[in-house]
Amino acid sequence: MTVAKAMQRIMARAPMRSNGFGKNDRLAALRRVASRYAVAITPAVAEMIDASDPHDPIARQFLPDARELEARPEENADPIGDDVHSPVDGVVHRYPDRVLLKLVNACAVYCRFCFRREMVGPGRGGLSPSALRAALDYIAHNPQIWEVILTGGDPLVLSPRRLKDVVARLAAIDHVKIIRVHTRVPVVAPERVSPALVRALRTDKATFVVLHANHPRELTSEARIACARFIDAGIPMLAQSVLLRGVNDDVETLGALMRALVECRIKPYYLHHADLAPGTAHLRTTIAEGQALMRALHGRYSGLCQPAYVLDIPGGFGKSPIGPNYLSADCSEIEDFRGRRHSYPPRSGEP
Ligand SMILES: *Cc1c(COP(=O)(O)O)cnc(C)c1O
Ligand code: SF4
Repeated sequence: MTVAKAMQRIMARAPMRSNGFGKNDRLAALRRVASRYAVAITPAVAEMIDASDPHDPIARQFLPDARELEARPEENADPIGDDVHSPVDGVVHRYPDRVLLKLVNACAVYCRFCFRREMVGPGRGGLSPSALRAALDYIAHNPQIWEVILTGGDPLVLSPRRLKDVVARLAAIDHVKIIRVHTRVPVVAPERVSPALVRALRTDKATFVVLHANHPRELTSEARIACARFIDAGIPMLAQSVLLRGVNDDVETLGALMRALVECRIKPYYLHHADLAPGTAHLRTTIAEGQALMRALHGRYSGLCQPAYVLDIPGGFGKSPIGPNYLSADCSEIEDFRGRRHSYPPRSGEP
């Protein structure tokens, strides 16, 4: 199913807005969205969408919505401040011991809530060979860089040959001990995870693949097989999810997502509070709602199923955990998983 066809099917069933706009107005609005922000879905994603459900959580993540044209004052084109920390093209160096290396600006799909939505899109190109050389030089000349995170865009849209070249050049830098790949490909285009692609990532350095997945239905049997290929090859996997209104903002869905990941041997790493990207308010929860969900998750699911709930601070100050907090400010009282409070004794004597 093509994007256009998937959209037609969804729209045919979606209830009209009460403001009296008809189908033609809505189509015109969607065309405006598509000319402003990149739109793409893959055959695997089209398969996942239940076109009979006007609130389908997969469709909500990938099919454009007229509300994307409504930017709020608190929203920002560079919501996490990548630009302020970019020493050379393609590199974001915010934390001393690790950098992002953005090889491509294209993805297999374009998530409607993307924090880099103003930068990513088809034909936006990637790093030229000379820019890549400059980026690798920067990494080589900064010995405090212990870890390099390939992100984008989605680095796994590159061919195995190009990936192998970059990964080998990174692995040759002595002080780079960890290579991390952030990707949505195993879920949205699992057929790309070929034995050649897995081999391209293998070096004598420790490599981690961090999967972006937001709904348990994204873990199809094809996606599970793709992930198993990495893990069986000695590449451990973590997952990051974005908390999204109407997609995973109830404890049953969030818990099912975390369990599905753990069942695939993927450790949930971060639950991101949705960033203040323009036109994404309809997909964002409040932080208080996120904390209540984390509390419920902690109360009901295995420790393996607990990601850290984090906020990327607007302005480029990095990510911080945002609770919830179980300990009172003076450390004298602690709450258990059932919500009961217990006192904790002060330390006696000298430290
Ligand atoms: C998120 C991010 C990282 C990775 O942070 P971790 O907490 O190690 O996952 C690194 N650099 C930048 C600029 C980031 O935004
Ligand atoms: S795959 Fe990542 S970078 Fe690409 S659109 Fe989705 S969130 Fe943005």
